[in-house]
Amino acid sequence: MDLEIVTIGDELLLGFTIDTNAAHLARELAALGVRIVRRATCGDDAESIKAAVQEALERTGAVITTGGLGPTADDMTKPAIASIFGTGMVMDHDILTALRDRWRARFNHELPLSNEQQAMVPEHCTILPNRHGSAPGIWLEDARQRWVAMLPGVPREMRGMLADTIIPRLRDRLPSSGRVIRSRTLRTANIAESALADRLGDLARGVNGLSLAYLPGSDGVDLRLTSWDRDAHEAEQVLAEAATQLRARVGPFVYGEGDDDLAAIMLAECAARNATIAVAESCTGGLLGMRLTAIPGSSRTVLGGTIAYANEVKIRELGVPAEVIAEHGAVSHEVARAMATGARLRFGSTIGLGITGIAGPDGGTPEKPVGTVWVGVDIDGDVHAVRAVLPGDRHEIRWRAAQLALDRLRKAFARDTESAAWTARG
Ligand code: AMP
Ligand code: MG
Repeated sequence: MDLEIVTIGDELLLGFTIDTNAAHLARELAALGVRIVRRATCGDDAESIKAAVQEALERTGAVITTGGLGPTADDMTKPAIASIFGTGMVMDHDILTALRDRWRARFNHELPLSNEQQAMVPEHCTILPNRHGSAPGIWLEDARQRWVAMLPGVPREMRGMLADTIIPRLRDRLPSSGRVIRSRTLRTANIAESALADRLGDLARGVNGLSLAYLPGSDGVDLRLTSWDRDAHEAEQVLAEAATQLRARVGPFVYGEGDDDLAAIMLAECAARNATIAVAESCTGGLLGMRLTAIPGSSRTVLGGTIAYANEVKIRELGVPAEVIAEHGAVSHEVARAMATGARLRFGSTIGLGITGIAGPDGGTPEKPVGTVWVGVDIDGDVHAVRAVLPGDRHEIRWRAAQLALDRLRKAFARDTESAAWTARG
């Protein structure tokens, strides 16, 4: 089934609100085997809404809109789309009663006159109940079975209604080919897109007829395989085989799949080793500690951390020798190591992670440009440090620096595992 999405709202056109509804709809519907062939966004005016929806309807006969169902004057989705179907608007007394009850129960107040508009619906429409808010959705369909489903703009309500009402309806209508669109994502860290493509060689453009997308972000580059036209079982199988082939080439850079978070993965690895963590952060200012403690159950593994922004704090709180800072500078191999060890010893943990760097926009020099970061890892007294020059603005550099620290710990664990396996075999 081909389908088009029209999202409605001036705030979307102005860029104040990011169109997360269209992205969510696309992801959920793809999983069902529905292909989104075009997306449009229009402002809160009846003519634009009518034009956008009418064109979409002529192309595919299947349209979902979000937004403009509210009680205010800028909410004109319903009459604009009703006019395409040549129907007028009528008051729905069940909705009106439900709205009045809701206002009395929730706000202890009579329904304001302007909200009565929410009970106006196109004639001959199907009402899509909304358990998640006040404005119901609307389904309009003509004699040729061309249809438009109107959902609210509030993302939480839209998501709920999609799951409650739209997906079950589409499932009933889908031809029983059973063909779906399925994706599988490998998450990599600390390797550039081009370097990944080089390592993938002949797999770089796709594997076994699956498309391969490179999705760079602050966490690293995600590799997303997509199967477009198979039944669910076959798609899963082909995706699994392809993922194995990709891992054979770039496995050491892959830290997870789907929406895995490297912080959560490393916490689990530490817990499995009965290891505890402490952090010493300069340029990341607590970001690494924040990411680790955001994971439920982290209190078993994370002992604490120091935001050692000023040199005096690195010296006083972490025991970094003043001479080392004077000789090598605060952003250096030696200081990163001393911070990691300082954190481990002060907090009494198994592992210490230290981060020091230049997040910019000021403070760079030719030898140490903005983005220069040193990460120190101390595992039970086995200490090493790595340097990277990270791209992006201040926010991205800080995020990437925390990710780098987690990834260095991952690599250190991987080496341990390899050498342990080697000893066991030898
Ligand atoms: P509306 O139903 O048009 O009154 O929208 C209600 C609220 O939902 C707006 O103020 C936005 O914050 C949010 N919203 C509307 N459309 C979208 C969209 N496409 N993506 C994300 N949020 C949206
Ligand atoms: Mg709106």
